[in-house]
Amino acid sequence: MQRVVLFGPPGVGKGTQGGRLAVALGVPAISTGDLFRAHLRSGSDLGKQVEALIKAGDYVPDSITNEMLAERLAEPDAAGGFLLDGYPRTADQVVELDRLVGLSGAAIDAVLLLDAADDELERRLVGRATEQGRADDTPEVIRHRLGLYHSETEPLVALYDAAGLVLRVDGTGSPDEVHERLLAAIALREPTPQG
Ligand code: ADP
Repeated sequence: MQRVVLFGPPGVGKGTQGGRLAVALGVPAISTGDLFRAHLRSGSDLGKQVEALIKAGDYVPDSITNEMLAERLAEPDAAGGFLLDGYPRTADQVVELDRLVGLSGAAIDAVLLLDAADDELERRLVGRATEQGRADDTPEVIRHRLGLYHSETEPLVALYDAAGLVLRVDGTGSPDEVHERLLAAIALREPTPQG
């Protein structure tokens, strides 16, 4: 299990779980949200281009996002695999990811779908806003991001379902519980030797 997509709504724990799971799988965790935030912090041209969109909770255009992701996947540490968090989010990005992975004759091994109810997600995101001060964690922008997820991104699960790639995991409970569920879902798909 080396090329994995972590799918799910904002606030479901993709960042936390993605980091831990990537370590367990021995692959880099690649978050397009983190890549964009690094551009915002560094004040790069790309950062300036996307700042208003990210603050408003809107998706960055596919052309920009796809190019940034392609550059990241071309780095040597991603050659043996990766865990993607926050990408793909549009049908165009699904196609681009298939193309990029296919260039090296590989394919996506699994799509892990983490899920939780919207009221729980809103509660978590509002809580995180106080801790991390993310500009896109205001109540209005949070509701907008959840809405965009449901209208634009969630329907893409059907594409991966058709390929038999989706593993559904309950994102409620403690981070340790969710981590164990993710490991169990992967182990069921790909039994590994004990020890
Ligand atoms: P969350 O999952 O909490 O919404 P992320 O950190 O994954 O947050 O993303 C933050 C923001 O970065 C998004 O709201 C969006 O503006 C932008 N972004 C991240 N990934 C993508 C993507 N694949 N396509 C378009 N925009 C993206």
